[in-house]
Amino acid sequence: MNIIEYMERYGYEQFVVCHEPSVGLKAYIAIHDTTLGPACGGVRIWPHPTEEAAVFDVLRLARAMTYKSAVAGLPLGGGKALIVADPHKDKSEALLRAFGRYVDTLGGRYVTTEDVGMTPRDLEHIAQETRHVVGLPESMGGSGDTSKMTGLGVYLGMKACAKAVWGSDSLEGRVVAIQGFGNVGTYAAQHLVEEGAKLVVADTYDGAIERARALGAAIVGPEAIYDTQCDIFSPCALGAVLNTTTIPRLRCAIVAGGANNQLLEDSDGDALHRRGIMFVPGYVINAGGVINAACEMDGAYRPERAKELTERIYDTTERVIRISRSEEIPPYVAAGRLAEHRLEEVRKLKKIYR
Ligand code: NAD
Repeated sequence: MNIIEYMERYGYEQFVVCHEPSVGLKAYIAIHDTTLGPACGGVRIWPHPTEEAAVFDVLRLARAMTYKSAVAGLPLGGGKALIVADPHKDKSEALLRAFGRYVDTLGGRYVTTEDVGMTPRDLEHIAQETRHVVGLPESMGGSGDTSKMTGLGVYLGMKACAKAVWGSDSLEGRVVAIQGFGNVGTYAAQHLVEEGAKLVVADTYDGAIERARALGAAIVGPEAIYDTQCDIFSPCALGAVLNTTTIPRLRCAIVAGGANNQLLEDSDGDALHRRGIMFVPGYVINAGGVINAACEMDGAYRPERAKELTERIYDTTERVIRISRSEEIPPYVAAGRLAEHRLEEVRKLKKIYR
């Protein structure tokens, strides 16, 4: 499918190609929908092997941000950016600043923050070129690492799923298999360990494996994680990991993770439902980061307010499961309806007050 066709089909507003060869910048910014407010979403640094993979990744991620902010009740739209580069080798001040200049040209229609491959310090470089950045270090008046709140939300989302499946939300003694032990995986794991859950972890990066070992996790290979007997499988790395190849291999009762766009296709959500595996989409439970960012945009950032709003993820997850059960639809369909309903209501209001 070509880009314009894809944008028309899913209602995208804008797609920006960023190119600055002198510093090795090749990046994309996708704005999906600004009905609810400025498009907010992190910038990912990842060395996608093909242009097609990169373009469709950023487009899909931007759309998920629209749904995420809609379900979380935030006054934000959906957008996302992707710098095509290796986060362990290619990051430089010049590259990040060049990207920041592109963000600035959008005049606040897109607000950037952290995603895979980024750190709050990287955001400092971007902030030298634009004020449309959130998740800055606390020393700069920002809210700090947004992934802390994301990890908390993912953990609470798991608990709400546990309550629905096992009648109790206690995760003590439960085995949680985490795919990807980066920022989100680590923060979620800290809550899990505190509650007495047992961890099995897979990652492709040695530093992450060491971090997981230090928390007492058992380590398995990146492929073996799909076959691991566990209570909860938690994808916290990249997207499209739930597909026709992996779903038949899963040996868990719940899939709940922080990664965006975990389903390769919607039909994979149906397949999980048919297998009796409880799956709530990433955008419902990984909203802690964008909630934190929204609190930073409000002006004076108050961590207790960000935490309070993030804790609502538990209730939102329960609500999605309730709709799913009462309407006999998979939870991923229920979550989509919740988001679309809010977008429709606000679109109607905008027409009235135009
Ligand atoms: P990160 O870069 O800190 O961590 C990702 C980890 O996944 C890395 O350690 C990487 O080595 C590992 N990984 C990559 N491919 C893997 C594979 N095939 N198998 C196992 N591990 C693999 O990124 P993050 O900020 O923790 O984000 C993780 C996911 O959560 C992403 O999908 C991101 O879009 C999503 N997310 C992040 C936030 C946030 O606040 N950072 C918010 C919402 C959603």
